[in-house]
Amino acid sequence: MTVRVCDRGAGRDYVGVSIRKVTVSDRCPICGGPRGVDTIRNHNFHEDGDWLSVDRWTNPCGHVDMYSAVLAESRAAQSGGAS
Ligand SMILES: [Zn+2]
Repeated sequence: MTVRVCDRGAGRDYVGVSIRKVTVSDRCPICGGPRGVDTIRNHNFHEDGDWLSVDRWTNPCGHVDMYSAVLAESRAAQSGGAS
């Protein structure tokens, strides 16, 4: 599934926020169940004087996908060449 997530950088320092569009599995990485693809919805928030839009979704299994984990998953999928 392709979603927009917010990227706050990998370190502890505040580097602002940017929106990234990433493609990740439609399966929960914790239990392997389906992610809530049909619950993907727009979420607007205000930060640093700008309005930004990301996607939110609710997994039916109850596991919560953190944006940082989704970004890491997307990076791993690109570098590993896994299909
Ligand atoms: Zn799960």
